[in-house]
Amino acid sequence: MADILLLGPQGAGKGTQGRLIAAEFGIPHVATGDMLRAAIYADTELGRQVKPLYDAGRLVPDDLMIALIRERLAAVDAREGFVLDGFPRTMPQAEALEEMLREIGRDLDVVFEFQLADQVGRERMLRRAAEESRTDDTPEAIDERLRLYHAETEPLVEYFRTRGNLVGIHADRPVQEVFREIQQAVIIRKAPAEIERMARAGEVVADTLALLGEHARPGVTTQELDELADEFIRSRGGTPTFKGYRGYPASICASPNEMVVHGIPGLYALRDGDILSVDVGVTLDGFVADSAYTFAIGEVSEEAERLLEGCQAALAAGIEQCRVGSRLSDISHAIQVATEEQGFSVVRSLVGHGVGRSMHEEPQIPNYGEPGRGPLLAEGMTFAIEPMITAGGADVVLHDDEWSISSADGSLAAHFEHTVAITADGPRILTAATTAVRS
Ligand code: AMP
Repeated sequence: MADILLLGPQGAGKGTQGRLIAAEFGIPHVATGDMLRAAIYADTELGRQVKPLYDAGRLVPDDLMIALIRERLAAVDAREGFVLDGFPRTMPQAEALEEMLREIGRDLDVVFEFQLADQVGRERMLRRAAEESRTDDTPEAIDERLRLYHAETEPLVEYFRTRGNLVGIHADRPVQEVFREIQQAVIIRKAPAEIERMARAGEVVADTLALLGEHARPGVTTQELDELADEFIRSRGGTPTFKGYRGYPASICASPNEMVVHGIPGLYALRDGDILSVDVGVTLDGFVADSAYTFAIGEVSEEAERLLEGCQAALAAGIEQCRVGSRLSDISHAIQVATEEQGFSVVRSLVGHGVGRSMHEEPQIPNYGEPGRGPLLAEGMTFAIEPMITAGGADVVLHDDEWSISSADGSLAAHFEHTVAITADGPRILTAATTAVRS
C-alpha cells in the first residue's frame, strides 16, 4: 500500500512517472488530465462543461474537480493506494483532499515535487503537441497553464512540506533515472492481513534460530547447521529466502568471530569460545521475514559477552524507535548511540532495510546518523532492523568468496536482527522467539 502525490509544472513528466509508479506498486494512476480528456472525448455532460476551460489552459472549478476525485478515490481499486497526478492544483483542492483522506483514515506517504525550468517544460509540451495533438498544447494555452501553475499550484509545495514527506525530484533527466529516485523514496506499507502473513514467516524464522541455537555446539560445522535449517524451514512450508539470492549458495549465513555477515556455511567446525552470527530469511505465502542472532559457543570471553549484550541493546534501542510519527533516522541514531556508548563501533557500509514482499525493500536503514531525518514512519511499514557492530574499528573487508565480510582489524563482530512492523500500538517484532529458548 502506498498513497503517492505528484506535484509539478506541466511538461515535467508526471504522467510518464505516474504510469511507471502505478505498474511498479500495483496501484491506480489517478490522472485528472486523463479523466477530463476521457470525458471530453466521450462528450459527457462533464466533458462539455469543461472543454472550453481545458482548451484554453484554464482551471476547471474546484467543486467539479473535488467531486470527481472524491468519487475516484472511493473506488475499490484505490483501497490499496493511488498515485495522484494533477490534483490538487489549488489550495481549496488541497484542503479538500486532506479532509477526504482523513475521512477514510489515510494519509499521503510521499509527495514528489517535480522541479523543472519553465522553458524546458514549454519545449517538451510543444514537442508533444506535434506528436499527440492535445488540444491544450497550443502556445497560448501552454503559457496560461504555466502561469496558473506558479500562481495557484506552486504554493501547495510549502503546504505539503509542512505536513509530511515532500521529496524534490530534479525532473530534467532521463525517465529511468527519475524513476529510480522515486522508487527509492517509496516505502510500501502492509495491510494488517499482510502483516499477519509476515508474522507467520517470522515464526518459522524464530523457530529456525531456536533450533540452530540448540545445535550450535563445539565440533558442529556451519554446513551442518545450514542443512538443519534448510530441512526445518521446508518442513514448515517455507523456503529459505537467501538460497539462490543473487547466486548465494546456502540457506543461512553463518559468520564466526570477526566475520560480521554473509558467511557461507562450510567445513568450519565451531570451537569453544567462538561467537557465531546466524542470519535466517524465510519466504512463506509470498512474504518474507528476516532475523539474525549471534550465539555464544560454550564459554566465551568477557569481551565477547559484552559485545553480544551491547548489540542486543542496540537492536532494542532501534526497535523502540519504530513508532508512528518518528523519522527513519531516529532508528539509526538510537542504534549508533547504544553501540558507541559501550565503546563499540557500528559498521557503516552495512544497513538494515525494508522487508515484506521481497527481502530488500526500501528504505535502507543505516545504523548511524543524526536523528529527525528522512521519511516519517507510518503504520504498516515493516523493517529489518539489524545492528552490525564490532569490538574494534568500523572498517570491514570483503573476502575472496565475494560474500563474507569481516572486520578489517580482526576484532570480534556481532549481528542481531528482527523484522519489525510499525503498528498503532507501537513496534511489533515479527521474528520474536515463540517456544524454545536459545543458547
Ligand atoms: P493535465 O493533463 O494534468 O495538464 O491537465 C489538463 C487540463 O485539465 C488542465 O489544464 C486543466 O484545464 C484541467 N485540470 C486537470 N486537473 C485539474 C485540477 N485539479 N483543477 C483544475 N483543472 C484541472
